[in-house]
Amino acid sequence: MGQNIAQTHSHYCVICDNSVPGFEHGGKSNDRKFCPNCRSKGRYRLIWLYLLRELSIDLRQFRVLHLAPERSLMKKLKSLGNLIYITADLMVKDVDVRLDLTRAGLLDQAFDLILCNHVLEHIKDDEAAIRELYRVLSPDGELLLTVPTNKGPVTEEYHLTHGRPLSSFTPEEHYREYGFDLVDKLREAGFSLEVVWYMKRFSAQDVLRLGLKNEVFFVCRRE
Ligand SMILES: [Zn+2]
Repeated sequence: MGQNIAQTHSHYCVICDNSVPGFEHGGKSNDRKFCPNCRSKGRYRLIWLYLLRELSIDLRQFRVLHLAPERSLMKKLKSLGNLIYITADLMVKDVDVRLDLTRAGLLDQAFDLILCNHVLEHIKDDEAAIRELYRVLSPDGELLLTVPTNKGPVTEEYHLTHGRPLSSFTPEEHYREYGFDLVDKLREAGFSLEVVWYMKRFSAQDVLRLGLKNEVFFVCRRE
């Protein structure tokens, strides 16, 4: 799988389905390799490929909750006719539901797929948010979770290392950078999980042509 997606020498964006001359660097990291057409980032494109290939998102009748939806990915998912697709955010207005993920107010086990990318680091009480994610996931459902990680074993809590009181942080900021102890936190909430380095399933050539960003997926299911 994934060996010969791009047949030409041009770059290709899997979200807007366009050949593009390349992916623009928008600053500090590879993550900011924007598609010049749909503005998707490398990590969005990797997520889309996972949804398409591993979950057959274009064919199945998932009830999807997309938290803090990435614009290009949201447009793509909305274009599929087979999903019940709900977007939610605390701050952004043009979503289906405005919610605080620590007390989401959604029905128990209501979603077969939850997309929660780069959200938890903005939440002070991330354990409460994780409990809510568990509560609203269906028994056979899957939570696809990504966060900025330091790739080490221990989460760095910024109020400790930056010497600032927790109360001074706002949801626009990051409260922490996660280490792999996030796995323990997710397990404590009841999830069974798989840590997936999905980009490793692609050839170096496809990584370049498709402009993918290496990011760890925490794939969580209810036990
Ligand atoms: Zn694109």
